[in-house]
Amino acid sequence: QILHPSKQGMGRNVLISIQMLSVQPDTKPKGCAGCNRKIKDRYLLKALDKYWHEDCLKCACCDCRLGEVGSTLYTKANLILCRRDYLRLFGVTGNCAACSKLIPAFEMVMRAKDNVYHLDCFACQLCNQRFCVGDKFFLKNNMILCQTDYEEGLMKEGYAPQVR
Ligand SMILES: [Zn+2]
Ligand SMILES: [Zn+2]
Ligand SMILES: [Zn+2]
Ligand SMILES: [Zn+2]
Repeated sequence: QILHPSKQGMGRNVLISIQMLSVQPDTKPKGCAGCNRKIKDRYLLKALDKYWHEDCLKCACCDCRLGEVGSTLYTKANLILCRRDYLRLFGVTGNCAACSKLIPAFEMVMRAKDNVYHLDCFACQLCNQRFCVGDKFFLKNNMILCQTDYEEGLMKEGYAPQVR
């Protein structure tokens, strides 16, 4: 079964993609989930498995038309929100596992297991090597390590087991 990307994380913090569909003239008009009237426009929006007038799919906070704001919406607690308001209301990413400072919602982050990191903090914590896409990194005792340091650590442990 193919996982539909827009349905990932359904029920939690959800990012939904909005589809803009052109209305086929021979199908009977769909009801709008916003105003409950029939959609007779040439285009309609489909999101959350419902159909909407372009004017009716709006952010619950700022009233902006979501069909235009990059065609994604966020939903949480039955609110439909634009990205900006979603992040303002719900959006702190967490604390960086490396420097333990708060990561603001708008910032790009790196994730490794349950940890989040500032992009700048995501580096080997022994030699400070940064990682590129495709590089291997290792998590050991919650420390990010590059392959070299990880393997070196394994070697050392092999020679001098941490028993005192
Ligand atoms: Zn409507
Ligand atoms: Zn908004
Ligand atoms: Zn950090
Ligand atoms: Zn390293």
